[in-house]
Amino acid sequence: MTTTTPMQKVPGGAWLLDDSGDIFTPEKLTDEHRLIAQTADEFVRTEVTPALDRLEQKDWTLARSLVRRGGDLGLLGIDVPEMFGGVALDKASSIIVGEAVGRAASFATTFGAQTGLAITPLLCFGTDDQQQRYLPGLVAGTTVGAYALSESGSGSDALGAKARATRQEDGSFLLSGEKMWITNGGFADLFIVFAKVDGEHFTAFIVERAFSGVSSGKEEHKLGLHGSSTTPLVLQDVPVPAANVLGEVGRGHKVAFNVLNYGRFKLAAMCSGGAKSVIGEAAAYAAERRQFGQPIATFGAIRHKLAEMAIREYAVESMLYRTAGLIDNALHDGGGSRETMLATLEEFAIEASILKVAASEMLDYVLDENVQIHGGNGFVRDYPAERHYRDARVNRIFEGTNEINRLLVPGMLARRAVKGGLPLIAAARKLQDELLAPSLPEPLADGILDTEARAVNAMKKVALMVLGTAMQTYGEKLADEQEVLTVSADILIDVFACDSVVARARASRARTAELQASAARVLVNDAAGRVELLARSALASMHEGDMLRTLLAALRRLLKVTPVNTVVPRRGIAEAVVARRGYPF
Ligand SMILES: Cc1cc2nc3c(=O)[nH]c(=O)nc-3n(C[C@H](O)[C@H](O)[C@H](O)COP(=O)(O)OP(=O)(O)OC[C@H]3O[C@@H](n4cnc5c(N)ncnc54)[C@H](O)[C@@H]3O)c2cc1C
Repeated sequence: MTTTTPMQKVPGGAWLLDDSGDIFTPEKLTDEHRLIAQTADEFVRTEVTPALDRLEQKDWTLARSLVRRGGDLGLLGIDVPEMFGGVALDKASSIIVGEAVGRAASFATTFGAQTGLAITPLLCFGTDDQQQRYLPGLVAGTTVGAYALSESGSGSDALGAKARATRQEDGSFLLSGEKMWITNGGFADLFIVFAKVDGEHFTAFIVERAFSGVSSGKEEHKLGLHGSSTTPLVLQDVPVPAANVLGEVGRGHKVAFNVLNYGRFKLAAMCSGGAKSVIGEAAAYAAERRQFGQPIATFGAIRHKLAEMAIREYAVESMLYRTAGLIDNALHDGGGSRETMLATLEEFAIEASILKVAASEMLDYVLDENVQIHGGNGFVRDYPAERHYRDARVNRIFEGTNEINRLLVPGMLARRAVKGGLPLIAAARKLQDELLAPSLPEPLADGILDTEARAVNAMKKVALMVLGTAMQTYGEKLADEQEVLTVSADILIDVFACDSVVARARASRARTAELQASAARVLVNDAAGRVELLARSALASMHEGDMLRTLLAALRRLLKVTPVNTVVPRRGIAEAVVARRGYPF
């Protein structure tokens, strides 16, 4: 089994309070990881990408055969024990496969529904009998799975579902209702369906297409992802045996939310892979396209874009592999039992939500700039730029919209603080004392990225100050203050990104270490400016007069970050992107 080398176990959200320490990074990948990457890359390059046009014509037989090929190659069972046909690898391997598949967005959606949304719930909540009946087929790709949570009237508010499960005298159920926007809906064999038992108790069920009363509606006409099936799922008095209740009656929310936690992490990996491949397309085009007698890649405006694409992806990649390491350590310590797996998915739900928002928005930035670099050619179908652009937009909508995920990030942190799981309140008090003291501790001597590390620590304190002030100001009503919560989320996302990037770049002994340090400098410089503005607006929404002036003075003392010249490091990164015709790290 391929595993990341065990490091110290760290609780979710701890990066906000502690020094980042030793984190898992792509530089620590093993030869075995590289082999998995090679297999997945080759599959996507030689079999999936050439099939995209036919998939877009809704050739679901081809989609099924590609799922099957994924199974033959072992790519569907990365997280699954060998007894069910899986290969039981670590989370870094899951990211590697997700990144490869993410280059072909339509197929990635099919693949994600199979592995993340159908296999994960069975793995975490299935009884032995359910796992034996369903996992081998799903892992081999002979059975195609789907996940049916959303309804036309309940998307974000998933627990408001109307689908009903009526209990029968023999303990079985009759399911009725209509689910919406179901990925793989047109050809899946097996559905994880959520319905309310007797109209009240939200519950997950395993429903086979072969059960009577199951049918799919028409394919949706979508903005993008034309090569992925999305249909309603109609349930008309579908008889479901008691043995097909997944988890417990009335505990469907546990299934739904934990599956989404892991799904978000995997979606981020797909976004990361998509971005890397498109950075390559943008670089190649910019190097070849000539205007005013020179390649457009020589223009500063274009170099800025190429560098920024790479820096933003570097940030997401660093957070992603760090989180994989955190999850693997927690699983390793817990012996990999089902209970440990569930506890771990919950533990790192904050990081999963951060990753989902950061990765989907980073990808949209990269794809938008890719269209721009392609000019008119970016807007027509002769080039893949327009397809990428359309395909990616949904990433900010499914697996919990980015608004919902933004609300979750500070919301979960605040809840953990109140419950005492994270000593956030004590840290906020200590910070208040520190700010009242005559001066802050003297900075350390300068070393590699010491200035940036100090800036990250200051940003952590700003995040604590904003969240602490919000908790004090609103108490239990904080959940109603969405504007403050979303601003807090943006600060926290920047903090986690900068912390991960600085820790990675400082530890890097790779050939690209200097380039990584440049990326870290630019990211931290820009994030410090953003964080200051966000904090000012959050504080001004909570206080006024003397109190606001005191808080703003404290903010200025905390965030004394001197701006650096970002043009020079960006040019260096852009040159590397163009020379490599791709992501340079
Ligand atoms: C291509 C595609 C594939 C999909 N695949 C699946 C699938 O396989 N299985 C499945 O179950 N579902 C699937 N979905 C559905 C998807 O998960 C939902 O569309 C998504 O959860 C959002 O729900 P909604 O569309 O009802 O939007 P709404 O919930 O109506 O949201 C509309 C807007 O309001 C915001 N909003 C909603 N509630 C709040 C709140 N409390 N606070 C602040 N803002 C709020 C949202 O962020 C959004 O901006 C898919 C959707 C698409 C488009």
